[in-house]
Amino acid sequence: MPADAQLAIDLLKELRALTSDEHGAQRVAWTPMWLKARAWFQQKLNTLPIQHHLDAAGNSWTTLRGESPRTLILGSHLDSVPNGGWLDGALGVVAAFTVITRISAEFHGRPPITIRLVDWADEEGARFGRSLFGSSAFAGTQSIEQDRGRTDAAGTRMEDAVAACGVSIEAIGEARRERQEAAAYLELHIEQGPVLEKLGLPLGVVLGTKGVERHAITFNGQEAHSGSTPMKTRRDALAAAAKLALAVRPIAMQHPDAVSTVGSLKTYPGIVTAVVGRCEVALDQRDLDPAILGSMYAEAQEKSRQFAEEEGCTVEWSRIWNIAPVPFHPELIQLCEQAINETAGQSHRLPSGPLHDAAEVSRAGIPTVMMFVQSLRGISHNRIEDTREDHLRLAVDAFDRLASKTIAWIAARP
Ligand SMILES: [Zn+2]
Repeated sequence: MPADAQLAIDLLKELRALTSDEHGAQRVAWTPMWLKARAWFQQKLNTLPIQHHLDAAGNSWTTLRGESPRTLILGSHLDSVPNGGWLDGALGVVAAFTVITRISAEFHGRPPITIRLVDWADEEGARFGRSLFGSSAFAGTQSIEQDRGRTDAAGTRMEDAVAACGVSIEAIGEARRERQEAAAYLELHIEQGPVLEKLGLPLGVVLGTKGVERHAITFNGQEAHSGSTPMKTRRDALAAAAKLALAVRPIAMQHPDAVSTVGSLKTYPGIVTAVVGRCEVALDQRDLDPAILGSMYAEAQEKSRQFAEEEGCTVEWSRIWNIAPVPFHPELIQLCEQAINETAGQSHRLPSGPLHDAAEVSRAGIPTVMMFVQSLRGISHNRIEDTREDHLRLAVDAFDRLASKTIAWIAARP
């Protein structure tokens, strides 16, 4: 008896009708609409023989007790960005609901191991700029001191907004208690990119989340009059920066899955009658392999020094943010691949560029894998975000199979 894939689709549509407007989904964490989505979901869960509680970070836990306390966790997030799509996060939560419903029925409310469903709090960080809020507290990588002073666009402090939802920011680290007995974590998510659609495949197994190196790079030259300064004597900071912006692309293209983006460039004084004296560039490089990420970073630095010298400038680097790649568990990757092959005939292995709650769970040392379903046009965080319904059905079927395989895998482990 498989999980009810049509029920998952019906529930996603019900949630969309309840929590979207003409601009898209509005389930921003720590807002009334988010609480409404959670209350709606709670009503669905109440049909099962389960226990429910919120942890210290606002993560919503539903537990179906099994013969063994060892636990399989299934989850994702109900929160969305403003004007978001109907599937990002919600698909994973609703699919987990249909799977836990199937498991409960199959084992008459008492499966061989314990199954838990988690709806992580504030995955998106849309309101306060702090992504993976709940899962990082679970993993013990939370950053209360930086988060305390965050404010939203209206000036509301994060500390106050979470308190209004029953969460004390001082105490969120206690969410790590939920790690007890956790033996594996599975998450189904839309790809949010174009890879599977290009390959004509509905489903893929995620190898891990890419590491990120994000840097501010400043070229310093000489401000000078654009009429009177001969070309040969210029120290044009923009010329050096422009060379770098182009050079980071072939650096990434040497590797199949690496990406490299100059997403921002500011010139000073920024007027048409002056040679640019200072140029600030923001660079974001990503790959799943730490060695590749490290070499891309080193190569970009070397190129920046070369271009600075060519243009008579100096260059300085300062790190904005970085995170190491998070590889998922090799045996769970295999199980996920099997589940996809059995359901859709063919699978594909791919890394995730975006970070996910699964990365935090994996960083906490819990065996983890994610499954991706194709996104139409590769578009997400937008109301036109979509996936074919036959692909959604395949995704729920394959995720259900993966859950069964993982239960057997946990039960067989010493
Ligand atoms: Zn998401």
